[in-house]
Amino acid sequence: MFKRILIANRGEIAVRIIRACRELGIETVAVYSTADANALHVQLATLAVCIGPAKAAQSYLNQTAILTAAIESGCEAIHPGYGFLSENDEFADLCTQCGLTFIGPSGDVIRRMGNKSAARSLMIEAGVPVVPGSDGVLQNAEQALEVAQRIGYPVLLKASAGGGGRGMRRVFSAEELPAAFASAQAEAVACFGNGSMYLEKLVLSPRHIEFQIMADRHGHVVHLGERDCSVQRKNQKLMEESPSRALTPALRQAMGEAAVKAAQCCGYEGAGTIEFVLAPDGNYYFIEMNTRIQVEHPVTEMVTGQDLVKEQIRVAAGLPLSFTQDDIKLNGHSIEVRINAEDPTKNFAPMPGKTEFVHFPGGCGVRVDSALYTGYELPPFYDSMVAKLIVHAPTRLAAIRRMRRVLEEFIVEGYPTSAELAHLILYHPDFLKGDYCTSFIEENLEQLLEWMEKGCRFDTQEEA
Ligand code: ADP
Ligand code: ADP
Ligand code: MG
Repeated sequence: MFKRILIANRGEIAVRIIRACRELGIETVAVYSTADANALHVQLATLAVCIGPAKAAQSYLNQTAILTAAIESGCEAIHPGYGFLSENDEFADLCTQCGLTFIGPSGDVIRRMGNKSAARSLMIEAGVPVVPGSDGVLQNAEQALEVAQRIGYPVLLKASAGGGGRGMRRVFSAEELPAAFASAQAEAVACFGNGSMYLEKLVLSPRHIEFQIMADRHGHVVHLGERDCSVQRKNQKLMEESPSRALTPALRQAMGEAAVKAAQCCGYEGAGTIEFVLAPDGNYYFIEMNTRIQVEHPVTEMVTGQDLVKEQIRVAAGLPLSFTQDDIKLNGHSIEVRINAEDPTKNFAPMPGKTEFVHFPGGCGVRVDSALYTGYELPPFYDSMVAKLIVHAPTRLAAIRRMRRVLEEFIVEGYPTSAELAHLILYHPDFLKGDYCTSFIEENLEQLLEWMEKGCRFDTQEEA
């Protein structure tokens, strides 16, 4: 096992990884930008190294600075977390060349799966269902028109290098396509430095269902059930739950087997997520693989009782998985709410500021993953997510009631957050029935914001 690991990330995920390391008896090296000198991860790690100025490009994405810090502080491995360098194949290769273990799949595997259009082709070969769409990358808007004509509208234009919902456009007719192609491509160039585009049929009213997988170097691949991440705004997740109300045991088994096959066909190692859209008719289609730990991994940990970050570290050290498929039983129900420092009434504009006061909820079946503390000043340079509230309970309704209670106890003063909106969602009749798809927020936002403006506070005692 490793003696010392560098964590190439910040915020709650850096804290999450430090906690796993401490329990494993592994020393940690935090890296931080000048804007993060007072951050919690810096205080919790064994050692901390400043790697550059506030801008991520010069600090958390500065590969040379991070590798230097790892070597000079005597680390054996680097955990990249999510975002930043976590899906950067070149960085994974550089770690190996420097004699460091990258806690994740190899650069080759990231290249194969990280490019979304290449991953599609690989899945077709492996016999995993994918959404009908283009064969590989589109040369220009004319070619996009041809493919869209063939598969029929509506279609979804996507960036091959995309992530975080960027570089995507829905197109409902041929007239709209050229302008959508140009703007999606421009966004892809700006965000990912790569303008290659592909397209898929737009599945209407789908659910976003993803499967957690874990794989080791010894040929074992296990799936740990699904997460339903259909509560999304602009293709970004707000709330996740496991298990999904939309899956029968038979469908879970079929999709789980497809996820395992997807991981096997690319020689996967470590934690990964296979994302699918599930159509109302019960057909499911692969959309992408995330070759890293995911923001919403705690809901899987709650229902399976496994620690995915510890498992990532074990696997990276060459140990076999500590469980088999038969050991994985989904127990009860878990929900996660992402708390962002943003104002939903101002078009979700990020609102960083000083944390004047924060109080975290507690009690039975409650977990809080956050790097906040009273007095902490949120730097404006990074993601606006400041906390994840996670609950576990025997049934879905009990988990919903627990999460309402948790959101009522949670206090943060100094900036607005998405907590109140999440609380209202937990009273929406369609959410309660489990009858929602990825357009749930879009369709209900006006109503939810109206409730918010009226200062509607439901009471945990009353059923909606
Ligand atoms: P998840 O399913 O884990 O939520 P997301 O796609 O929402 O995955 O991304 C997780 C985090 O990584 C978010 O903070 C997001 O802003 C960031 N992220 C995702 N893709 C990229 C990318 N290509 N480049 C930089 N950051 C990214
Ligand atoms: P990203 O890399 O930005 O996470 P994804 O390909 O995972 O992009 O898509 C983001 C979201 O867009 C999905 O969670 C889903 O809600 C929606 N989506 C993706 N592909 C399709 C599709 N073919 N039809 C309908 N919705 C889709
Ligand atoms: Mg995705």
